[in-house]
Amino acid sequence: MEAAEIAARVEQFVREMVVPYERDSRCGAHGPSEELVAELRDKARAAGLLTPHIGAEGRHLSHRDTALVLRAAGLSPLGPVALNVAAPDEGNMYLLGRVATAEQKVRFLDPLVAGRARSAFFMTEPAADGGAGSDPSMMQTRARPDGNHWVIDGCKAFITGAQGASVGIVMAKTGEGATIFLVDLPDPAVRIERVLDTIDSSMPGGHSVVAIEGLRVPADQILGEVDKGFDYAQIRLAPARLTHCMRWLGAATRAHEIACDYAVKRHAFGKPLIDHEGVGFQLADNRIALQQALLMIDWCAGVLDSGAPGIAESSMAKVAVSDLLFGVADRCVQVMGGTGVSGDTIVEQVFREIRAFRIYDGPTEVHKWSLAKRIKRETLARLTLA
Ligand SMILES: Cc1cc2nc3c(=O)[nH]c(=O)nc-3n(C[C@H](O)[C@H](O)[C@H](O)COP(=O)(O)OP(=O)(O)OC[C@H]3O[C@@H](n4cnc5c(N)ncnc54)[C@H](O)[C@@H]3O)c2cc1C
Repeated sequence: MEAAEIAARVEQFVREMVVPYERDSRCGAHGPSEELVAELRDKARAAGLLTPHIGAEGRHLSHRDTALVLRAAGLSPLGPVALNVAAPDEGNMYLLGRVATAEQKVRFLDPLVAGRARSAFFMTEPAADGGAGSDPSMMQTRARPDGNHWVIDGCKAFITGAQGASVGIVMAKTGEGATIFLVDLPDPAVRIERVLDTIDSSMPGGHSVVAIEGLRVPADQILGEVDKGFDYAQIRLAPARLTHCMRWLGAATRAHEIACDYAVKRHAFGKPLIDHEGVGFQLADNRIALQQALLMIDWCAGVLDSGAPGIAESSMAKVAVSDLLFGVADRCVQVMGGTGVSGDTIVEQVFREIRAFRIYDGPTEVHKWSLAKRIKRETLARLTLA
């Protein structure tokens, strides 16, 4: 099936089958319940649309084709979870597909692709302890060798989906570098201390603070090589940033549709809201921003499809798209007045979700800072040549 056809079927599935669940009482502050996730995935499986971006023999669609499918999935905040293209599983599946051994794939990747398991990526640590956040080199979680095992101790924070995950991808310092370990969950040595109350609510299991105490991991559960963890995290990071952009583009598009419907139907001062220039301009700005976001994603996806790492490009795309889509969501709220901030539509949720997106997978300022360093290097090189 062509990607455009998959995307069309995904869009129809999300609009007809997933959207009605948006008011389901099992959509909680810490994401949809496990029961709801399983129910939605059964429907996606029956429709032949589960994990639609990964085909036979684990082959992924190209990044540009993935953009079509994930935008369609994102049209509902529940769509990515229903179709098994949500964060962090989607990025984790990508990483395991690229780096894991054949045995590791059977054990850790296959259940994820089948949509029967969820995973969590353990990198960030509590700010109060001075751990890794914007700066991963501050990582305090340590792994030490012990016979043919490694023993991990530390504390992690904001771990999406840790509650309920059965596959853990844990990053720990090993000497000067960091190493990634694949872990079966739950494990008594991995204790969820609390699920944080955060602004967003679309990701199953929410975001947890997790204590890791004496976690024993066999050496054959190391992902790739010892001390190469930060390199592998980069493999995951550039595409994962972009897939967030793709999904949130879908969500912002839907919020815009809802705001347009409101502005056409709702009257004030003798005419539909959309006929007031102040409202019409906001919707026009939305249309422009959505198109800019789409083009930025398409450009960056093309760079990744060429085989380039796309580190700077995905930074630029993430900063630009998260800002553009936040503007769209904000204007949707404004156009809809009180309804915009109420739970009567998903516009309010889309606004909250996209606010958080400016922080995870690298805060906007960190991306700009690293771009500025690159600009300085390039400028100095040009000046030296001149
Ligand atoms: C909803 C959500 C889900 C998440 N899921 C996961 C997950 O599954 N796994 C995981 O490991 N982590 C996860 N995170 C953590 C996320 O990656 C971190 O929040 C992020 O890296 C920032 O780290 P921090 O929160 O410690 O902020 P800090 O490092 O304390 O930074 C705070 C602010 O300082 C500013 N800043 C930092 N450095 C610079 C700089 N060089 N120049 C200018 N300004 C700067 C930025 O504005 C930044 O927002 C998640 C976070 C959120 C909010």
